[in-house]
Amino acid sequence: MNKVLVIGAGGVGSVVIHKMAQLADIFGEVTLASRRKFKCDEIAAEVKKRIGVEIKTAEVDADNSEATAALIRETGATLVVNVALPYQDLTIMDACLATGTHYLDTANYEPRDEAKFEYHWQWAYQQRFEEAGLMALLGSGFDPGVTNVFTAHAKKHLLDRIDTLDILDCNGGDHGQHFATNFNPEINIREVTAEVRHWENGDWVTTPAMSNKQAYDFPVVGERNMYQMYHEELESLSKHLPEIKRARFWMTFGDAYIKHLEVLQNVGMTRIDPVMYEGKEIIPLQFLKAVLPNPGDLGKTTKGKTCIGNIMTGEKDGEEKTVYVYNICDHEECFAEVGSQAVSYTTGVPAMIGAALMLTGKWSGKGVFNMEQMDPDPFMDMLNKHGLPWQVAELDKPLDF
Ligand code: NDP
Repeated sequence: MNKVLVIGAGGVGSVVIHKMAQLADIFGEVTLASRRKFKCDEIAAEVKKRIGVEIKTAEVDADNSEATAALIRETGATLVVNVALPYQDLTIMDACLATGTHYLDTANYEPRDEAKFEYHWQWAYQQRFEEAGLMALLGSGFDPGVTNVFTAHAKKHLLDRIDTLDILDCNGGDHGQHFATNFNPEINIREVTAEVRHWENGDWVTTPAMSNKQAYDFPVVGERNMYQMYHEELESLSKHLPEIKRARFWMTFGDAYIKHLEVLQNVGMTRIDPVMYEGKEIIPLQFLKAVLPNPGDLGKTTKGKTCIGNIMTGEKDGEEKTVYVYNICDHEECFAEVGSQAVSYTTGVPAMIGAALMLTGKWSGKGVFNMEQMDPDPFMDMLNKHGLPWQVAELDKPLDF
């Protein structure tokens, strides 16, 4: 029987555990561990009620590599699914190397004091994982994750050559709050306020945060404003598909979100450097996280749909062709199924699928891998079966902005 350790009992962790419980024949014995055990116990109780499957729980500080290794040994896990925060990626990878365990995550490592979103720290583990005969699968969420697989799918089945790639992340949902983020607020705000980079003709082009706004008419969701951002999959995709001449990432934000963010930024609440407050060092962004709504609690009130996908222009049989591969996900349907909104759902389902493909040997390898390096077919097939069906549309012209 397979044994799996999932670390991180947040919004994404809850979905991963529910989806693993739905596939108990693949996942066998699952342990959920996090900084605070009571959150794991709450998720385990929900899973027991909804699906009737027992989940083991444990407490761990995943910043501590030895403690994490000890827990891996205790559980007998052969795979660790890391859905804690990006800060823990390296300590968990170290624990996997120390115990001979495979590794999967959904977000690249970041040092706490700088928002860099770069893979080089984790790519530096390539040789150690390879020599240990272990696999580390990086970024098995939606974006990164499914968006990387959509690119690999287009390259395998839809286009002979991809020239331009635009990843469009649209959350057309409404949670009824003045200001809230759909996943961990600290990580989300670090991402949104970071300088924008995109890949063009073999180099990075840098522009100020939130400076390129475009309206786009999304399938099913309708017209939304989206902003160009940097996102980590641009780095791995431009490395592994060097034919891509231009790769960009876009995310939709409503006017209220932008207004609040501007004020928070202007008053210094999004800073990630420490400030002294009543004789104690605090990080303003971490304090802000403490007063914002918990994304895990937004599920009850969120209505509407997400539409995330890739618009890719290239050549097929000598002709220019533009394809749009996307998924539509409904917040209320996700809540009815697993008690979470669609942003956690669209991340947790691909994490479960990546883990299932590793455990069944459909995806294997020695070393550190990004999603686009794997065969997209079994992953695309599981997306259709496990809650994230995708569509392909042929557009009559490339994006004209
Ligand atoms: P949450 O903040 O809801 O959950 C994170 C969990 O990790 C919490 O339960 C937290 O514990 C736990 N945790 C934090 N630090 C530690 C530690 N040192 N040791 C053990 N556990 C710890 O985040 P989300 O669920 O929204 O996001 C989870 C991950 O998914 C993040 O890395 C995020 O970047 C990534 N993500 C990826 C996406 C993608 O599409 N690829 C999209 C959305 C998210 P506690 O509750 O005690 O604080």
